[in-house]
Amino acid sequence: MAIEPLIDAGTIARRVAELGEAITRDFEGHDVIIVPVLKGSYVFAADLARQIDLDVGVDFLAVRSYGDSQESSGVVQITSDLSHPIEGKHVILVEDIVDTGLTVSYLRQNLVTRHPASLKIAALLHKPSRTRVPVDIDYLGFTVEDVFIVGYGLDHAQKFRNLPYLAVVTDDDP
Ligand code: 5GP
Repeated sequence: MAIEPLIDAGTIARRVAELGEAITRDFEGHDVIIVPVLKGSYVFAADLARQIDLDVGVDFLAVRSYGDSQESSGVVQITSDLSHPIEGKHVILVEDIVDTGLTVSYLRQNLVTRHPASLKIAALLHKPSRTRVPVDIDYLGFTVEDVFIVGYGLDHAQKFRNLPYLAVVTDDDP
């Protein structure tokens, strides 16, 4: 399998710092709960949380939508739910990448029924060319082309999550 670097670690760090500053400004005087969607967003969420200068709680959601293939099944299943209620809380859902938009729009609808005070979406990456359900992303890192991305938490068949930068899979052969 061949990969090609796309966005280096320094560029990611600078962008994540900007997103953290924006969240800090927007929620001044409030606590926030960040909800990373596992597994892909764990690296982004860890870095983002440390760039937010507020009281930040963390709770996790795990979903299954892809298996080990590169195509969205269109079916989203919560495989591990939040451990605490979010009623009355300011919640920021943290995604690695918004591709078709199916996952985020499903999760948004689901979380809204739990009556948070507010619900915002942070996503490291967005592939607008693949949109099937339009999603408003409140805090977006980078827009990318229709390529398969790995690194900085994102995997291909569970590999590459620990790359410190973002890369493109250029060749699917082993
Ligand atoms: P969506 O429901 O928006 O189509 O898909 C969202 C999920 O698909 C992401 O959270 C991620 O797990 C997976 N995904 C979509 N595009 C990519 C990609 O380029 N690379 C990786 N590693 N995962 C992707």
